[in-house]
Amino acid sequence: GIRRLGTAASALEEPIAPPVQVKHTQLLIDGQFVNAASGKTFPTFDPRTGDVIANVAEGDAPDVNRAVKAARKAFDVGPWPKMTAYERSCIMLRFADLLEKHNDEIAALETWDNGKPYEQASLVEVPMAVRLFRYYAGWADKIHGLTVPADGPYHVQTLHEPIGVAGQIIPWNFPLLMFAWKVGPALACGNSIVLKSAEQTPLTALYAAKLFHEAGLPPGVLNIVSGFGPTAGAAIARHMDIDKVAFTGSTETGKAVLELASKSNLKPVTLELGGKSPFIVCEDADVDQAVELAHFALFFNQGQCCCAGSRTFVHESIHDEFVEKAKARCLSRVVGDPFRKGVEQGPQIDQEQFNKILRYIKAGKESGAKLVTGGDQIGTKGFYIMPTIFSEVQDDMAIATDEIFGPVQSIIKFKTLDEVIKRANASRYGLAAGVFTQNIETANTLTRALRVGTVWVNCFDIFDAGIPFGGYKMSGTGREKGIYSLQNYLQVKAVVTPLKNPAWL
Ligand code: NAD
Repeated sequence: GIRRLGTAASALEEPIAPPVQVKHTQLLIDGQFVNAASGKTFPTFDPRTGDVIANVAEGDAPDVNRAVKAARKAFDVGPWPKMTAYERSCIMLRFADLLEKHNDEIAALETWDNGKPYEQASLVEVPMAVRLFRYYAGWADKIHGLTVPADGPYHVQTLHEPIGVAGQIIPWNFPLLMFAWKVGPALACGNSIVLKSAEQTPLTALYAAKLFHEAGLPPGVLNIVSGFGPTAGAAIARHMDIDKVAFTGSTETGKAVLELASKSNLKPVTLELGGKSPFIVCEDADVDQAVELAHFALFFNQGQCCCAGSRTFVHESIHDEFVEKAKARCLSRVVGDPFRKGVEQGPQIDQEQFNKILRYIKAGKESGAKLVTGGDQIGTKGFYIMPTIFSEVQDDMAIATDEIFGPVQSIIKFKTLDEVIKRANASRYGLAAGVFTQNIETANTLTRALRVGTVWVNCFDIFDAGIPFGGYKMSGTGREKGIYSLQNYLQVKAVVTPLKNPAWL
């Protein structure tokens, strides 16, 4: 049912998603659904109840080996490398059409597996994935090298070639969108792929990869190995025949992936890791608008965003009013079954994250921060947590330094711009920041001073396909989306040919 923490009244009781079944639970290798070599399976759970949705084939090193063999063959022999870029582009466009056609079914599967509100999955996440594949389909036939002037009689050109077999490891917070961010650019550049989905959310990657084959993708180009990190994930990171790894997840695991890559074949690694992003509300801000945006920046997706605006810095002159209004906004947040209309917040992903968030809430209370609202779980079934706010948060408290990955907003008071710049930057992370001000000088100062990969000014979480995303510092290395992601999946080859009797040098 629906729990309304406050007065918001738009939620209806009727489910709004189409009925959905789990169609695919095996590994997808070389275009075929197959069992794991070990025969093992693992359960994936419904975060609303903790009940098992389905048992999924559990891939491990032997399955990764099998997938790499298929991917190598598709890349080294064919037909993938022999196809024109335009043919690849057409397959990607056909896939995007299929994804769009199955939008609601995929969104329902995503909500079931992940717990995110169906309205967000169906109106935002799946359409964004569709858009992203169309964007990269557009790039496929526009990737080319340069002709380079030389000091002598040489014709010099660069070829931008696919890097080979890409290993991709993705998290559970946006299962389909993370699939899209990884697979889109890699295929546009002509690579083949071995992808491991997160063990919490294996279902939509299998569904989408099946559709890709229906769209005409040759077998072996996109292989999905569901399974756990230390087994299947690590097997990808250390594989000698994988030419590149792209990872999204926690900073700790990112380090492990980098280490495995460096100890094996030195494959290049791109990392999208954690964050503790500042959202800075300046003194000139319209408080109502700032409260709404800061609320969205933190609570969107149950607070499970790597870029969540989880340090809400508020200027002292408007601080008390902001806290009161932020509390009212939290109390009106509609938390409940993500399949119901009007629900803004569903359950957290699993027991582990649920426990971790409650531990941070306890630490917040014990460290002397002021609990403004929330601060507990909701009910006893599933992984629901109250929208929670702490004020009087000090920079060195765990709730201000660590990634909580849940619906917990920390409000921190500041006095001057110089001070907030220093404090915002005093983090091991540098993924994103929000800036809320009507003053262009303030905005310009902050956008340049903040050591982060994305600054959203008077907006937040704008994720168009063309906008690069990635971290400074321990939030990662490399950029995804846009033109920048292509660099992750290309090699540059210089070709030098002597010129006989050139007319010009
Ligand atoms: P994680 O880093 O453990 O998992 C991310 C992916 O990496 C999963 O597919 C997982 O199976 C895989 N993985 C785990 N260990 C691995 C290993 N040794 N080698 C290779 N792959 C491995 O993250 P999590 O446990 O799902 O969540 C823990 C924390 O990570 C969260 O609380 C949050 O702070 C952070 N997180 C960040 C993002 C993000 O988008 N940046 C996403 C999810 C989680």
